Amino acid sequence: MADQKVIRLSVKRQQDADSKPYIEEFEIPYRPNMNVISVLMEIRKNPVNAKGEKTTPVVWENVCLEEVCGSCTMLINGKPRQACSALIDQLEQPIHLAPLSTFPVVRDLQVDRQRMFDALKRVKAWIPIDGTFNLGPGPRFPEKKRQWAYELSKCMTCGCCLEACPNVNDRSDFIGPAALSQVRLFNAHPTGEMNKEERLTTIMEAGGINSCGNSQNCVQVCPKGISLTTSIADLYRQTTLQSFKNFFGSYK
Ligand code: SF4
Repeated sequence: MADQKVIRLSVKRQQDADSKPYIEEFEIPYRPNMNVISVLMEIRKNPVNAKGEKTTPVVWENVCLEEVCGSCTMLINGKPRQACSALIDQLEQPIHLAPLSTFPVVRDLQVDRQRMFDALKRVKAWIPIDGTFNLGPGPRFPEKKRQWAYELSKCMTCGCCLEACPNVNDRSDFIGPAALSQVRLFNAHPTGEMNKEERLTTIMEAGGINSCGNSQNCVQVCPKGISLTTSIADLYRQTTLQSFKNFFGSYK
């Protein structure tokens, strides 16, 4: 590849959850308009490292390839972002790829984001309706509120906000900004609000809203531009009202 334009890549690799990580470098022939995923696909087609040695294909995860599923999130030049929307022409080389550090590594760039899904389960980030028979139309969602809610619903559980948050780590059970923001979303829904008290009570427990250290890193990294800090501030208000309600028993 002496006179051919190449893409230089350094990948933090790890055989499995328990093995020691190591760095492997690659040089891939350049083509215009490539993204990080297409470079990883080139490695998969021909798994040879920059020293010319045969190696194993790099493992990563992706589904939608349009920044909607969040599964290809990794550290790209030190920043948490989606590999599908990371264009090679806009990245400084060598491009450093590493798995998100907040989640356990499965292999290479693939991590286990279960902690996020557990947090969504914990806060009941859904609207529990009986799907066995037709309930008819639900309550109307005013258009302005629907547009506002749509912005919060764009969360793709990518994990960038957890990666950026200093309070999400191995020693903390903080559920993180994404799940908190979903509490705000579902509490605002005309049907979802029937579980509002339950959600608020959950986030007042250990690992909930009081574990937020107000670093405000989350809002800066969210690729969907979700107003996470506004959600958290709003939930402080909601939980304060809820605690009065719990104390006095009949607050409405
Ligand atoms: Fe990703 Fe934003 Fe959702 Fe956090 S809130 S998981 S950064 S989309």
